[in-house]
Amino acid sequence: MNSATGGRPTAGDNSGVAAAGHRQRLLAVREKYLHTLPDTITRIEECWSRLLEDRSDRDGVGMLHGMLHTLAGSAPSFGLAELGDAARGCEILLRRILDGVESPAGEVWERVGDAIDGLRGAYASSELEERARLRFGEEVPDSAAPRPAGKLVYLVEDDLNLLRNLSVQIECFGYRVRGFAGLAEVRRSVAESPPSAIIMDLVFPEGNIAGAETIVEIQRDAERHIPAIFISQRDDFTARLNAVRAGGDAYLTKPLHISRLIDKLDQLTMDREADPYRILIIDDDPELSNYYALILEQYGMVARVVNNPLKIIEHMVEFNPELILMDMYMDGCDGYELASIIRQMEAYVSIPIVYLSSETRKDLQLRALRIGADEFLTKPIRPEHLYSSVVIRAERMRIVRSFMEQDSLTGLLNHTRTKEQLDLAVLRARRGGGCFSFAMIDIDGFKSVNDTYGHLTGDRVIVILSRLLQQRLRKSDIIGRYGGEEFAVVLIDTNAEQAFRVLDEIRRTFEQVRHESDSGDFCVTFSCGIASFPCFHDPVTITREADKALYEAKRLGRNRVVIRAPEPDGQSERMRWLTIAE
Ligand code: GH3
Ligand code: MG
Ligand code: MG
Repeated sequence: MNSATGGRPTAGDNSGVAAAGHRQRLLAVREKYLHTLPDTITRIEECWSRLLEDRSDRDGVGMLHGMLHTLAGSAPSFGLAELGDAARGCEILLRRILDGVESPAGEVWERVGDAIDGLRGAYASSELEERARLRFGEEVPDSAAPRPAGKLVYLVEDDLNLLRNLSVQIECFGYRVRGFAGLAEVRRSVAESPPSAIIMDLVFPEGNIAGAETIVEIQRDAERHIPAIFISQRDDFTARLNAVRAGGDAYLTKPLHISRLIDKLDQLTMDREADPYRILIIDDDPELSNYYALILEQYGMVARVVNNPLKIIEHMVEFNPELILMDMYMDGCDGYELASIIRQMEAYVSIPIVYLSSETRKDLQLRALRIGADEFLTKPIRPEHLYSSVVIRAERMRIVRSFMEQDSLTGLLNHTRTKEQLDLAVLRARRGGGCFSFAMIDIDGFKSVNDTYGHLTGDRVIVILSRLLQQRLRKSDIIGRYGGEEFAVVLIDTNAEQAFRVLDEIRRTFEQVRHESDSGDFCVTFSCGIASFPCFHDPVTITREADKALYEAKRLGRNRVVIRAPEPDGQSERMRWLTIAE
């Protein structure tokens, strides 16, 4: 764990289960479903027997239709195609009676009877077939592997001063650095513990391109390509050519710009795996919805199932889904009513909604889509098809969102989104009884940085601070660029003192970073104010109090973190400032 997290609880890991475990769970859900089927069919048969005594019982016909509709949707999803077809045929006949197209006195009544008599046979044969098949899509690797704390980087540089300085600078950005002054040792070490990247000087006592030659040897012996960045005084074509031929991924000339070096390191060592997509499934059929959840989890997504549609808002706030998969007909609330409710909430106007229903009538599907839903999938659905429909929309949503929500210079959340996230944090903490801290950060004397070193250099300082925050805070924390040189951070499940420790550590790191410019190196500091929930209860007060704390930090001389807290006796009118002693 990164020391900057100061012993706070680490982010909950809910991003999936190992693939083998999935398969087991899938089989278990399916087994459970198969187990309930004989009862389901018995209930259908009993309902039919009652109707045989009174054909005019419309409610009874409606109930029978409902049961067959559900069966037609679920059976094929679990591989029982024949049973699904039989139920679907029966359902269509009953729908015609309900719609008044056919009379219960007519020939259609006999056909319903035949179809219901055939259900048990269809079940028996398709169950046998399915048991023989047991096919559940391909297993995919689990995406929940824990992320290592800091990636190991080798720095090879025979100028000892530079080696020491650069090591400290790179470590500021969350990497673990192992420094080497000579080429022989680095070769040995790579074999023992391969690093995530190597930063290699080019010129050594052994020769003018000795660094490149060593990288060639290292790559030859390594099991996989190790990203290599060359750093050199030389800026000539031959030097660059040799670096490229040695398989170098980047070439930076000295004096080094630390921000460019870190950019390259970040790029080259980036985890290719993105966060898993969060999918909310709303369906009043527990077995079927669990089954869909397992399919999506098997593809590396995180799925949450809601069986009671009336509870949807709570789950939206808590789970923050990126896509909603919704059944059409549910007890208590229809799919399109639910979609309308979601669309009328400002925070969710753009969230993709995909219906997954047994409804095959085009006019009703279109009506459901008009509300602003994105797609209508019909049950049963093949796992691959479900996955690709979901992933395409979730992916596009992430891209659109990143344009809408991110600040273009730093990639952090913009002002509006940061405030939205603060609102959500308050809602979540109120429901779940948790705490969180809100911190406002403002770079000290930034105007004079711009005036002395130019606006571009100023921009670079902003980017460096944003990157430091991203590296030092947890993935679950929210980081926004609040204004020009102002940042806002929401630290989830973190009280004010814990937040203080984290931010003060970041402050001490930041003041050590040396920023380069054409007119020389310089250092910059920031001030920070913290207010936390539940000391303060609503977003407006939390923001105001954090801002006051920031102002106090500036007043006390800058380069410090201040907490705004109520007196311990709970009299909130009397406030106090806290700066924890060094
Ligand atoms: P203090 O310690 O009191 O915060 O002093 P300060 O100079 O940082 O505060 P002030 O608010 O007076 O100045 C902030 C400066 O930040 C003014 C503005 O030109 C500059 N600034 C705002 N946004 C950007 C940006 O995106 N890039 C750059 N380079 N400068 C910016
Ligand atoms: Mg300012
Ligand atoms: Mg400032």
